[in-house]
Amino acid sequence: MPLKPAVILDRDGTLIVDLVYLNEPDRIEYLPGVFQALRLLRDAGYVLCVATNQSGVPRGRVDVRNLDEIHRRIQAKFASEGVDILSFHSAPYMTDNDHILRKPNPGMLLEAARWHGLDLKRSWMVGDRMTDVEAGHRAGSRSVLLGTWDSPKNSPFDPPEIHAPNLLTAAMEIIARG
Ligand SMILES: [Mg+2]
Repeated sequence: MPLKPAVILDRDGTLIVDLVYLNEPDRIEYLPGVFQALRLLRDAGYVLCVATNQSGVPRGRVDVRNLDEIHRRIQAKFASEGVDILSFHSAPYMTDNDHILRKPNPGMLLEAARWHGLDLKRSWMVGDRMTDVEAGHRAGSRSVLLGTWDSPKNSPFDPPEIHAPNLLTAAMEIIARG
């Protein structure tokens, strides 16, 4: 089986509104254009996964059963929009924990690659923080930074290959670069 290119997506601030320690499945709110964006990437031959830091778990703000339910619902919603998200990877560690799974470390991307046979060199990491960008680079992939919450300036990490205002624009730029 040839290795597949993937787009690995951050969750909060990328696919859904970042409510900070979202713990209630009923409060999931999708960002504009995300379904169309993922359909474009699917049609361009990318498989799709999600990688999310969840420090809310060790903080006691997020219950792992709710986290599982939130991911089940997001996956079902995208499926109803014709988009198959292969897997959700989460890193339930504190912000000061340098665990391999916690972005900016690449563990979740490496896990996705192992599970699905991904070609990380031809893959992209997309997120709204420079830690997402760095996780992509540490995995050997290219990276997209979304929006203006975070800036490549004053960051200790290398800048993203693409800086886009939103996921739909990012998808079109990824496809243009291949
Ligand atoms: Mg985010």
